[in-house]
Amino acid sequence: MNYMLESYKGRSSRYTCPKCGQPHCFTRYIDTWTGQYLADDVGICDHKNSCGYHKPPREYFKERGSGYYSEYRQSYSLNRFTESSKERETDFIPMRIIEDFEKLNKKKNTLKEFLSGVFPLLGLQQVFSDYHIGTTKNGETVFPQIDMQGRCRTAKIMAYDESGHRIKGKMDRIDWLHARIMKKKGLKPSDWNLKQCLFGEHLLSSRPDDKVCLVESEKTAIICKLRCPEYLWLACGGKQNLKPEMCQALAGRNVLLCPDADAVANWEEQSKLLSFCRKTEMVRWYKHEAEDSKRDIADIILERLQKEAQDKVQETA
Ligand SMILES: [Zn+2]
Repeated sequence: MNYMLESYKGRSSRYTCPKCGQPHCFTRYIDTWTGQYLADDVGICDHKNSCGYHKPPREYFKERGSGYYSEYRQSYSLNRFTESSKERETDFIPMRIIEDFEKLNKKKNTLKEFLSGVFPLLGLQQVFSDYHIGTTKNGETVFPQIDMQGRCRTAKIMAYDESGHRIKGKMDRIDWLHARIMKKKGLKPSDWNLKQCLFGEHLLSSRPDDKVCLVESEKTAIICKLRCPEYLWLACGGKQNLKPEMCQALAGRNVLLCPDADAVANWEEQSKLLSFCRKTEMVRWYKHEAEDSKRDIADIILERLQKEAQDKVQETA
Protein backbone atom coordinates (compact mmCIF):
# COMPACT_ATOMS: atom_id res chain seq x y z
CA MET A 1 0.00 0.00 0.00
CA ASN A 2 1.41 3.36 -1.05
CA TYR A 3 0.10 6.80 -0.34
CA MET A 4 0.86 10.26 -1.70
CA LEU A 5 -0.59 13.72 -1.29
CA GLU A 6 -3.34 14.33 -3.82
CA SER A 7 -2.24 16.56 -6.67
CA TYR A 8 -4.11 19.82 -7.14
CA LYS A 9 -7.17 19.46 -9.38
CA GLY A 10 -8.92 22.71 -8.48
CA ARG A 11 -10.54 23.89 -5.24
CA SER A 12 -12.67 20.76 -4.94
CA SER A 13 -9.54 18.69 -4.33
CA ARG A 14 -8.71 20.79 -1.25
CA TYR A 15 -10.75 20.18 1.91
CA THR A 16 -11.62 21.82 5.21
CA CYS A 17 -8.76 21.36 7.65
CA PRO A 18 -9.80 19.18 10.63
CA LYS A 19 -7.70 21.30 12.97
CA CYS A 20 -8.04 24.97 12.00
CA GLY A 21 -11.37 24.53 10.21
CA GLN A 22 -10.40 26.67 7.19
CA PRO A 23 -11.95 25.58 3.91
CA HIS A 24 -10.04 24.51 0.79
CA CYS A 25 -6.64 24.29 2.46
CA PHE A 26 -6.35 20.64 3.37
CA THR A 27 -4.62 18.13 1.07
CA ARG A 28 -5.48 14.50 1.71
CA TYR A 29 -3.32 11.46 1.12
CA ILE A 30 -4.55 9.16 -1.62
CA ASP A 31 -3.85 5.53 -2.27
CA THR A 32 -1.55 5.60 -5.31
CA TRP A 33 -3.13 2.41 -6.66
CA THR A 34 -6.85 3.06 -6.14
CA GLY A 35 -6.81 6.85 -6.04
CA GLN A 36 -8.93 6.71 -2.87
CA TYR A 37 -8.54 8.62 0.36
CA LEU A 38 -7.33 6.75 3.41
CA ALA A 39 -9.46 8.91 5.77
CA ASP A 40 -10.91 12.42 5.93
CA ASP A 41 -8.32 13.62 8.41
CA VAL A 42 -5.18 12.05 6.93
CA GLY A 43 -3.38 14.87 5.14
CA ILE A 44 -1.66 18.21 5.55
CA CYS A 45 -2.86 21.78 6.06
CA ASP A 46 -1.56 24.62 3.82
CA HIS A 47 -1.23 26.87 6.83
CA LYS A 48 2.10 25.47 7.94
CA ASN A 49 2.85 28.20 10.46
CA SER A 50 -0.53 29.12 11.93
CA CYS A 51 -2.00 25.59 11.98
CA GLY A 52 0.70 23.04 11.18
CA TYR A 53 -1.65 20.05 11.08
CA HIS A 54 -0.11 17.02 9.38
CA LYS A 55 -1.24 13.45 9.80
CA PRO A 56 0.59 10.97 7.55
CA PRO A 57 -0.85 7.47 6.87
CA ARG A 58 1.63 5.80 9.24
CA GLU A 59 0.22 7.86 12.11
CA TYR A 60 -3.32 6.85 11.12
CA PHE A 61 -2.34 3.17 11.40
CA LYS A 62 -0.35 3.73 14.58
CA GLU A 63 -3.44 5.19 16.29
CA ARG A 64 -5.33 2.01 15.53
CA GLY A 65 -2.70 -0.45 16.72
CA SER A 66 -0.63 -3.06 14.93
CA GLY A 67 -3.48 -5.60 14.60
CA TYR A 68 -5.49 -3.13 12.61
CA TYR A 69 -2.71 -2.54 10.08
CA SER A 70 -2.24 -6.21 9.29
CA GLU A 71 -5.99 -6.76 8.95
CA TYR A 72 -6.28 -3.70 6.76
CA ARG A 73 -3.59 -5.11 4.49
CA GLN A 74 -5.43 -8.41 4.27
CA SER A 75 -8.74 -6.85 3.37
CA TYR A 76 -7.02 -4.64 0.83
CA SER A 77 -8.60 -6.46 -2.03
CA LEU A 78 -10.27 -5.93 -5.37
CA ASN A 79 -13.56 -4.71 -3.98
CA ARG A 80 -11.90 -1.51 -2.84
CA PHE A 81 -11.28 -0.53 -6.44
CA THR A 82 -14.93 -0.42 -7.35
CA GLU A 83 -16.02 1.87 -4.52
CA SER A 84 -16.77 5.35 -5.66
CA SER A 85 -14.05 7.71 -4.53
CA LYS A 86 -16.28 10.77 -4.30
CA GLU A 87 -18.61 10.50 -1.33
CA ARG A 88 -20.80 13.35 -0.24
CA GLU A 89 -18.98 15.11 2.58
CA THR A 90 -20.17 14.58 6.14
CA ASP A 91 -21.55 17.66 7.91
CA PHE A 92 -20.21 18.67 11.33
CA ILE A 93 -21.48 20.91 14.12
CA PRO A 94 -18.89 23.43 15.36
CA MET A 95 -17.65 22.45 18.83
CA ARG A 96 -18.34 25.98 20.13
CA ILE A 97 -22.07 25.18 19.90
CA ILE A 98 -21.54 22.10 22.08
CA GLU A 99 -19.44 24.18 24.48
CA ASP A 100 -22.30 26.69 24.77
CA PHE A 101 -24.58 23.85 25.94
CA GLU A 102 -21.88 22.74 28.42
CA LYS A 103 -21.85 26.23 29.91
CA LEU A 104 -25.53 25.76 30.77
CA ASN A 105 -24.75 22.69 32.92
CA LYS A 106 -24.78 24.94 35.98
CA LYS A 107 -28.45 25.61 35.30
CA LYS A 108 -31.23 23.10 35.90
CA ASN A 109 -30.71 19.73 34.23
CA THR A 110 -33.15 17.11 35.51
CA LEU A 111 -30.99 14.13 34.58
CA LYS A 112 -27.98 15.62 36.34
CA GLU A 113 -30.10 16.39 39.40
CA PHE A 114 -31.35 12.83 39.53
CA LEU A 115 -27.84 11.39 39.16
CA SER A 116 -26.39 13.74 41.80
CA GLY A 117 -28.73 12.08 44.30
CA VAL A 118 -27.07 8.73 43.57
CA PHE A 119 -23.45 9.52 42.67
CA PRO A 120 -20.85 11.97 44.06
CA LEU A 121 -21.11 15.36 42.37
CA LEU A 122 -17.41 15.60 41.53
CA GLY A 123 -17.45 12.35 39.55
CA LEU A 124 -20.65 13.41 37.86
CA GLN A 125 -19.16 16.71 36.73
CA GLN A 126 -16.11 14.88 35.40
CA VAL A 127 -18.27 12.51 33.36
CA PHE A 128 -20.31 15.39 31.92
CA SER A 129 -17.09 17.12 30.93
CA ASP A 130 -15.43 13.98 29.50
CA TYR A 131 -18.40 13.26 27.24
CA HIS A 132 -19.10 16.97 26.53
CA ILE A 133 -22.67 16.55 27.74
CA GLY A 134 -24.62 19.79 27.83
CA THR A 135 -27.91 21.34 28.86
CA THR A 136 -30.48 23.30 26.86
CA LYS A 137 -32.28 26.38 28.14
CA ASN A 138 -35.26 24.09 28.89
CA GLY A 139 -33.17 21.75 31.04
CA GLU A 140 -32.94 18.97 28.46
CA THR A 141 -29.76 16.93 28.20
CA VAL A 142 -27.55 17.20 25.10
CA PHE A 143 -25.55 14.06 24.21
CA PRO A 144 -23.10 14.88 21.40
CA GLN A 145 -21.66 12.33 18.99
CA ILE A 146 -18.00 13.36 18.70
CA ASP A 147 -15.83 11.23 16.45
CA MET A 148 -12.20 10.10 16.84
CA GLN A 149 -11.01 13.28 15.13
CA GLY A 150 -12.90 15.42 17.66
CA ARG A 151 -15.60 16.48 15.18
CA CYS A 152 -19.22 16.62 16.28
CA ARG A 153 -21.53 14.74 13.90
CA THR A 154 -24.76 15.65 15.72
CA ALA A 155 -26.23 15.49 19.22
CA LYS A 156 -29.30 13.91 20.76
CA ILE A 157 -31.46 16.15 22.89
CA MET A 158 -33.51 14.35 25.53
CA ALA A 159 -35.79 15.43 28.35
CA TYR A 160 -35.87 13.56 31.68
CA ASP A 161 -38.18 13.70 34.69
CA GLU A 162 -37.00 13.94 38.33
CA SER A 163 -36.65 10.16 38.60
CA GLY A 164 -34.26 10.07 35.64
CA HIS A 165 -36.76 8.64 33.15
CA ARG A 166 -37.16 9.99 29.67
CA ILE A 167 -40.10 12.25 28.97
CA LYS A 168 -41.20 11.11 25.57
CA GLY A 169 -43.05 13.36 23.16
CA LYS A 170 -46.14 12.43 21.22
CA MET A 171 -44.23 10.52 18.58
CA ASP A 172 -41.46 9.13 20.80
CA ARG A 173 -39.09 10.70 18.31
CA ILE A 174 -35.56 11.66 19.20
CA ASP A 175 -34.84 15.35 18.99
CA TRP A 176 -31.61 15.92 17.05
CA LEU A 177 -29.41 18.98 17.27
CA HIS A 178 -28.68 18.98 13.53
CA ALA A 179 -32.43 18.97 12.84
CA ARG A 180 -32.88 22.01 15.10
CA ILE A 181 -30.03 23.81 13.34
CA MET A 182 -31.49 23.07 9.91
CA LYS A 183 -34.95 24.17 11.01
CA LYS A 184 -33.54 27.52 12.15
CA LYS A 185 -32.04 27.96 8.69
CA GLY A 186 -35.34 27.03 7.08
CA LEU A 187 -33.90 23.77 5.71
CA LYS A 188 -34.94 20.14 6.02
CA PRO A 189 -33.15 17.79 8.45
CA SER A 190 -32.46 15.53 5.47
CA ASP A 191 -30.34 18.30 3.87
CA TRP A 192 -27.82 17.62 6.62
CA ASN A 193 -25.40 14.89 5.59
CA LEU A 194 -25.53 12.88 8.77
CA LYS A 195 -23.01 10.17 9.47
CA GLN A 196 -23.58 9.07 13.03
CA CYS A 197 -20.79 7.85 15.26
CA LEU A 198 -20.69 6.28 18.71
CA PHE A 199 -21.38 8.36 21.81
CA GLY A 200 -17.99 8.65 23.56
CA GLU A 201 -16.02 7.72 20.45
CA HIS A 202 -13.64 10.69 20.95
CA LEU A 203 -12.39 9.04 24.16
CA LEU A 204 -10.98 6.01 22.30
CA SER A 205 -7.63 7.48 21.24
CA SER A 206 -6.67 8.48 24.78
CA ARG A 207 -7.05 4.86 25.94
CA PRO A 208 -5.79 2.83 22.96
CA ASP A 209 -5.26 -0.45 24.83
CA ASP A 210 -8.32 -0.50 27.06
CA LYS A 211 -11.29 -2.74 26.58
CA VAL A 212 -14.36 -0.92 25.27
CA CYS A 213 -17.75 -1.62 26.82
CA LEU A 214 -20.58 -0.83 24.44
CA VAL A 215 -24.13 -0.21 25.63
CA GLU A 216 -27.28 0.96 23.89
CA SER A 217 -28.24 4.26 25.49
CA GLU A 218 -26.18 7.33 26.32
CA LYS A 219 -27.66 7.55 29.81
CA THR A 220 -26.66 3.92 30.47
CA ALA A 221 -23.10 4.65 29.32
CA ILE A 222 -22.65 7.48 31.81
CA ILE A 223 -24.23 5.57 34.71
CA CYS A 224 -21.87 2.66 33.99
CA LYS A 225 -18.96 5.09 33.76
CA LEU A 226 -19.88 6.53 37.16
CA ARG A 227 -20.04 3.08 38.73
CA CYS A 228 -17.07 1.47 36.92
CA PRO A 229 -14.80 4.32 35.78
CA GLU A 230 -11.93 1.94 35.05
CA TYR A 231 -13.68 0.85 31.84
CA LEU A 232 -14.23 2.84 28.69
CA TRP A 233 -18.00 3.13 28.14
CA LEU A 234 -19.49 3.96 24.76
CA ALA A 235 -23.08 3.92 23.47
CA CYS A 236 -24.40 3.20 19.99
CA GLY A 237 -27.65 5.05 20.69
CA GLY A 238 -30.16 2.38 19.68
CA LYS A 239 -30.77 -1.34 19.40
CA GLN A 240 -30.53 -1.20 15.62
CA ASN A 241 -27.28 0.76 15.64
CA LEU A 242 -24.91 -2.11 16.29
CA LYS A 243 -23.75 -2.13 12.69
CA PRO A 244 -20.38 -1.88 10.98
CA GLU A 245 -20.76 1.66 9.59
CA MET A 246 -21.58 2.94 13.08
CA CYS A 247 -18.85 0.97 14.86
CA GLN A 248 -15.89 1.55 12.54
CA ALA A 249 -13.92 3.29 15.28
CA LEU A 250 -13.81 -0.01 17.20
CA ALA A 251 -11.51 -1.57 14.59
CA GLY A 252 -8.73 -3.52 16.28
CA ARG A 253 -10.24 -3.10 19.76
CA ASN A 254 -11.40 -5.56 22.40
CA VAL A 255 -15.10 -4.92 22.82
CA LEU A 256 -17.52 -6.08 25.50
CA LEU A 257 -21.11 -5.78 24.26
CA CYS A 258 -23.67 -5.05 26.99
CA PRO A 259 -27.07 -5.28 25.28
CA ASP A 260 -30.36 -4.37 26.91
CA ALA A 261 -32.24 -7.49 28.06
CA ASP A 262 -34.53 -7.43 25.04
CA ALA A 263 -31.71 -7.05 22.49
CA VAL A 264 -29.53 -10.05 23.29
CA ALA A 265 -30.49 -12.16 20.28
CA ASN A 266 -30.37 -9.19 17.93
CA TRP A 267 -26.90 -8.10 19.10
CA GLU A 268 -25.61 -11.65 19.01
CA GLU A 269 -26.52 -11.77 15.33
CA GLN A 270 -25.25 -8.26 14.56
CA SER A 271 -21.94 -8.81 16.36
CA LYS A 272 -20.95 -11.28 13.65
CA LEU A 273 -20.56 -8.32 11.30
CA LEU A 274 -18.02 -6.67 13.60
CA SER A 275 -15.12 -8.88 12.56
CA PHE A 276 -12.88 -5.82 12.28
CA CYS A 277 -12.77 -5.67 16.09
CA ARG A 278 -9.92 -7.60 17.64
CA LYS A 279 -12.36 -9.49 19.82
CA THR A 280 -16.01 -9.16 20.81
CA GLU A 281 -17.59 -10.67 23.91
CA MET A 282 -21.12 -10.30 25.18
CA VAL A 283 -22.64 -9.90 28.62
CA ARG A 284 -25.38 -12.47 29.28
CA TRP A 285 -28.67 -11.98 31.06
CA TYR A 286 -30.39 -14.56 33.19
CA LYS A 287 -33.12 -16.31 31.22
CA HIS A 288 -35.89 -14.96 33.43
CA GLU A 289 -34.70 -11.39 32.87
CA ALA A 290 -34.15 -11.59 29.16
CA GLU A 291 -36.28 -10.95 26.11
CA ASP A 292 -39.49 -9.38 27.34
CA SER A 293 -37.82 -7.26 30.00
CA LYS A 294 -36.98 -3.64 29.22
CA ARG A 295 -34.06 -3.63 31.63
CA ASP A 296 -30.52 -2.62 30.92
CA ILE A 297 -27.26 -2.71 32.84
CA ALA A 298 -27.88 0.78 34.34
CA ASP A 299 -31.11 -0.46 35.96
CA ILE A 300 -29.11 -3.15 37.75
CA ILE A 301 -26.51 -0.64 38.93
CA LEU A 302 -29.18 1.74 40.25
CA GLU A 303 -31.08 -1.08 42.00
CA ARG A 304 -27.87 -2.27 43.64
CA LEU A 305 -26.95 1.21 44.83
CA GLN A 306 -30.44 1.63 46.26
CA LYS A 307 -30.13 -1.65 48.12
CA GLU A 308 -26.69 -0.75 49.46
CA ALA A 309 -28.11 2.53 50.74
CA GLN A 310 -31.05 0.73 52.41
CA ASP A 311 -28.70 -1.79 54.05
CA LYS A 312 -26.63 1.07 55.42
CA VAL A 313 -29.71 2.68 56.94
CA GLN A 314 -30.68 -0.63 58.57
CA GLU A 315 -27.15 -1.13 59.94
CA THR A 316 -27.14 2.24 61.62
CA ALA A 317 -30.71 1.86 62.91
ZN1 LIG B 1 -5.25 23.83 9.26
